[in-house]
Amino acid sequence: MTQATIITIGDELLIGQTIDTNSAFIAKELNGIGIWVKRRLAIGDVQEEILNALTTESKACDVVIITGGLGPTGDDITKQVLAEYFNAELRVDEGALQNVKDIFSKLNRPLTERNSKQAEVPDACTVLPNKTGTAPGMWFEKQGVIYVSLPGVPHEMVGLMQDSVIPKLKEQLKLQAIVHKTLLTAGQGESTIADALADFEKNLPEHIKLAYLPAYGMVRLRLTGRGDNMQLLEQETAQQFDQLKDLVKDWMVIDKDMPLEEVVGNLLVEKSKFVATAESCTGGYIAHLITAKSGASTSFKGSVVCYANEAKENVLGVAHGTIIKYGAVSEETIIEMAKGIVYVMNADYAIATSGIMGPKGGTPEKPVGTVWIAVANKEKVVSKKYVFRFDRKRNIEQTALTSLNMLRQFILQEEKE
Ligand code: AMP
Ligand code: MG
Repeated sequence: MTQATIITIGDELLIGQTIDTNSAFIAKELNGIGIWVKRRLAIGDVQEEILNALTTESKACDVVIITGGLGPTGDDITKQVLAEYFNAELRVDEGALQNVKDIFSKLNRPLTERNSKQAEVPDACTVLPNKTGTAPGMWFEKQGVIYVSLPGVPHEMVGLMQDSVIPKLKEQLKLQAIVHKTLLTAGQGESTIADALADFEKNLPEHIKLAYLPAYGMVRLRLTGRGDNMQLLEQETAQQFDQLKDLVKDWMVIDKDMPLEEVVGNLLVEKSKFVATAESCTGGYIAHLITAKSGASTSFKGSVVCYANEAKENVLGVAHGTIIKYGAVSEETIIEMAKGIVYVMNADYAIATSGIMGPKGGTPEKPVGTVWIAVANKEKVVSKKYVFRFDRKRNIEQTALTSLNMLRQFILQEEKE
């Protein structure tokens, strides 16, 4: 099987200033076309480190993908080191120079010598045009190994991977067929699911593997099949996937790799219904998830971020007495919030959230992580208390996904009634 190493270059990665998202993206892309990522390596902008990594990794792998160190500033040295490694001279590439000129003329900024140097590449490489930035990608081949150098800027790297690197790798290498099939479950922990799937997993053929990907009360299950014949592999994986779906049918949300907010969005569109959210502790995060996908205007009315008690009262019509008597994080308040938003926004459905996300603000009766969630239509409200156990960011994410799943169940239940 074709094997790859990903080398990410940049001092900022080593001091924790930038999180290395590039190698996760590249690994996923390579995996998707049947290239196994054997190692991921992060190194600084240091000549010797880069040379060492190139020498060592090219002995272990067929493909070496490098990101970072291509900027116009003195700290970025990858290009110079690649020239040295491949025994090449830096020369201006006319296409890359035109690209730099075009970018600067669009920005209406003068082109400096430093900027035009971005168009210089080692003459041993094939240039991969960068549509969104000044540093071109570079493709090298030496002793049967393919090396690709890409800019560190994530969206530029993504564009180059998708437009050039993946198609070129597929064209040039005889790659193993690989099939992924994923489904999403909710409401059951991974160990219970694993118990239910023990026999299925044991009986899977050697070349098809099952993976569990748990997150926030949901578990994604992925089957990955590898083989030489794509058609056969697709058939075999589909058969196993049908069995898997049947075994988890009570918990399955969807038989695709689709985020929950999209599943809920699609359900609303299918029914021509609109949701609105009243968000205290989630601060608009649910609205953000729903609107992250284009087309949300056909299922989403809007949101009120009702953080202060005043906002809950003045905008949503929650009674002052309710908040005084029961508190903002209470069943009584959340029910009034849900009822309020469904009318304020003239929506078919509502989600309301109120909780203590931490790290401060907890009390013995209402510890950090306590959340009330309600979902409603114009006739009915369902409310539930949860106590989540994470940090602030993850408590917010957990609350958002839990409430979306509550809405999904509410809609499906309504269908049955
Ligand atoms: P460079 O190509 O080294 O000039 O990188 C440009 C910018 O891309 C840096 O400022 C980083 O913030 C970002 N970057 C570099 N490497 C990575 C990486 N592995 N993952 C995510 N962002 C990165
Ligand atoms: Mg850098």
